[in-house]
Amino acid sequence: KSGFISIIGRPNVGKSTFLNRVIGQKIAIMSDKPQTTRNKVQGVLTQEDAQMIFIDTPGIHKPKHKLGDFMMKVAQNTLKEVDLVLFMVNAEEGFGRGEEFIIEKFRTINTPVFLVINKIDKIHPDELLSIIESYKEKFSFKEIVPISALEGNNVERLLEQIKGFL
Ligand code: GDP
Ligand code: MG
Repeated sequence: KSGFISIIGRPNVGKSTFLNRVIGQKIAIMSDKPQTTRNKVQGVLTQEDAQMIFIDTPGIHKPKHKLGDFMMKVAQNTLKEVDLVLFMVNAEEGFGRGEEFIIEKFRTINTPVFLVINKIDKIHPDELLSIIESYKEKFSFKEIVPISALEGNNVERLLEQIKGFL
């Protein structure tokens, strides 16, 4: 099994922390350098039964000018071409217009989307339940996976679920 996985999420939700954990420090640090190339490979995880190629998809945000508009289209095309999209959100922050805007883009593609709720180490389990409920009514995510990228909770399980879609 092998496939391309795009990680979408606002700054600071924990994308690099997640990649560091699953792939290793060096690669994710490299990918934090400013890049002019779009859809950069952030890391490749090779396991006995699967290979997961994680790619960065910048430009999924509300465009402020024409170039942003173009970047949006490029990003949307990427979403169509990958095997799976991981939409990462911060469990500490509520659903907002930024999230709504991104979810609108998901409606234009057929690629399966997972909702990854990160930083669950920072919240109470009751809060997690209400976050899950609020997202469930917005979009039919193929999976909703709460994790702590920092502490590692549920990360292995997420990798197993990803494999199921490759
Ligand atoms: P990115 O901008 O999406 O790549 O986010 P980063 O991976 O750089 O993380 C932003 C900040 O959130 C850093 O200070 C991380 O240590 C912190 N962070 C990431 N994941 C977690 C998590 O699961 N729990 C907690 N408590 N902090 C996290
Ligand atoms: Mg980052």
